[in-house]
Amino acid sequence: TDTGSQKDRMVAEEEWLRKWETGNIWFHKERGHPLLQKYLDVLLNGRSGLRIFFPLCGKAVEMKWLADMGHSVVGVEVSEKALKEFFVEHNLPFCEEPIPEISGAKKLQTTSGNIALYCCSIYDLSSSIVGKFDGVWDRGALVAVNPCDRQRYVSLMITLMEKNSSYLLVTVSYDPNKHKGPPFYVPESEIKSLFG
Ligand code: SAH
Repeated sequence: TDTGSQKDRMVAEEEWLRKWETGNIWFHKERGHPLLQKYLDVLLNGRSGLRIFFPLCGKAVEMKWLADMGHSVVGVEVSEKALKEFFVEHNLPFCEEPIPEISGAKKLQTTSGNIALYCCSIYDLSSSIVGKFDGVWDRGALVAVNPCDRQRYVSLMITLMEKNSSYLLVTVSYDPNKHKGPPFYVPESEIKSLFG
């Protein structure tokens, strides 16, 4: 459970933007994540028409998959390029509008509004802006957050959850002294203390 040299590592927002600009997006997967398929029942828990949140969404293809099942998907991502690629690659017409509460930020959404992607930092969001969610798909999100921001991230996520919501979290397990991350290694004991 020693996270070694990773705990002080910081990846700046500009660095993420640069990854998208240069196409250095090894984390993006063209096929839906097998763990979402496997645990879909846990996420949905027999419910339909859910509001599902994708923190640090990139252009995750699972957003389209869940929207096609009739759920309403909300994502947040700093890279506008990522979000535009998402709509274009799925042939989804979209429109853009500013987010009055966050200067310089915008919301890109399908014409029916069933997929709404906020282009800003997750730390700019609050439940008064995005509402609360019945489910969360956290893949490449907690593990991408800078280690020093983990508690802030998790505390925010908790404020965005409805009472009976479910949260699917994907982490990676490896020797943190051999790879600098992201994805960062988040030990299970830390996950327990972060979420309480
Ligand atoms: N969850 C996605 C992307 C994972 S990579 C997937 O499964 O494919 C992490 C993403 O978070 C990158 O696209 C990066 O641009 C974005 N990101 C990093 N910091 C962020 C922040 N503070 N707010 C919103 N997005 C952020």
